[in-house]
Amino acid sequence: MNLENNLAFAKTQDEADELKDFRNQFLFPKHNNKEFIYLCGNSLGLQPKVAKAVLGSQLDNWANYAVEGWFDGDQPWMFYHKELKKLMAPIVGAFPSEVCPMNTLTVNLHLLMVSFYQPKGKRFKIIMEGGAFPSDQYAIESQVKFHGFDPKEAILEVFPLEGEEILRTEDIIAKIEENGSEIALVLFGGINYYTGQWYDMEAITNAGHSIGAIVGWDLAHAAGNVPVKLHDWQVDFACWCSYKYQNSGPGGISGIFVHEKHFGNTELNRFAGWWGYQENKRFKMEKGFIPEAGADGWQISCTQVMPMALYHASLQLFEQAGFIEPLRNKSITLTNYLEFIINEVNINLGFEQYKIITPKDVKDRGAQLSIIAKEQGKLIFDGLVENHVLGDWREPDVIRLSPIPLYNSFEDIYKTGQILLEVTRKVLN
Ligand SMILES: *Cc1c(COP(=O)(O)O)cnc(C)c1O
Repeated sequence: MNLENNLAFAKTQDEADELKDFRNQFLFPKHNNKEFIYLCGNSLGLQPKVAKAVLGSQLDNWANYAVEGWFDGDQPWMFYHKELKKLMAPIVGAFPSEVCPMNTLTVNLHLLMVSFYQPKGKRFKIIMEGGAFPSDQYAIESQVKFHGFDPKEAILEVFPLEGEEILRTEDIIAKIEENGSEIALVLFGGINYYTGQWYDMEAITNAGHSIGAIVGWDLAHAAGNVPVKLHDWQVDFACWCSYKYQNSGPGGISGIFVHEKHFGNTELNRFAGWWGYQENKRFKMEKGFIPEAGADGWQISCTQVMPMALYHASLQLFEQAGFIEPLRNKSITLTNYLEFIINEVNINLGFEQYKIITPKDVKDRGAQLSIIAKEQGKLIFDGLVENHVLGDWREPDVIRLSPIPLYNSFEDIYKTGQILLEVTRKVLN
């Protein structure tokens, strides 16, 4: 398709967009009574309008049933997570039994490492991407220390080649193979938060398995953004937060995935709690932990009904949209359009002020573009916010913009280009 940098073109694209009405299902932030163009769904997704009602119905259950709400009402809390499991599964390519909503992301990363990082003899290392999200770095460092190892020895990080921003799949695989007999766990983020690179998850998973390691993924920036097939790819475990691409609200509940091949494995360590106990005997309150089958057996504390209600509200929109595939198709065209528009800004400026470090190939990226602003990035970013364009800023010089197929339009992108050009000219003159 020939892309055009004009409003009529953007409007035509929006008219033809089958998902265009979903935009009306969300609340956009405002400043001086004017709505923002919101391109920050990679950090915190917008509030679905239905969230208040879905949350409200659980507040009503609490008011009307109090403790009996666990077993009474139209959605008894005891089984409420099962509603979510059905809707979460298609988002990550899993069976409902393989996923469960619980806790928050970094907590789950720790809990899953308790089960799936079991160093033995020479095989004690974890391999991860260099420049991973800090919380993942801290979690992994503290886990290897907990097992008595020095992080400098036990953690292998893969960095891009000198002068490059992006990891090459063949370099990741080579490093896995070189250290084959020493790696206990391969643990990457599905999409890197800084560069927006979507790793070749299937190839990396296969490489990890071929050397006898366990493979886990942090899908914070991938779940709800790109199609993943955790079950088919034989991924051992994964977890994600739901407040980025899945619009569940600040501090929203996390999801975990455990592949069904591990369901019968009684060797796995786990930190147990009563909510992971066999469901039909949970209230017998007996001594001796027997886990519920499937991912549910990793639960520790009782169901967090209110955060789950918020996640539920958003998952229903995903269901109405046809889950990931239609969203991904729109996402590809929206992000391609943003890439084109950023390039148009450079052309209009007459020099390359903006350099996109996110991979060009759509199979290597999701919604997000990470854009280096060569001059005065922070001032320009602040100017964008003042002019009602909300993305986010990452030190030292990166602006991240993420068009979200559920609620962004081509017109948003076109206007962002106009505003970026204007602001840049103002700041650099
Ligand atoms: C957003 C994000 C987190 C945040 O973790 P919380 O425990 O939800 O605060 C962790 N890891 C990655 C890779 C992220 O992108």
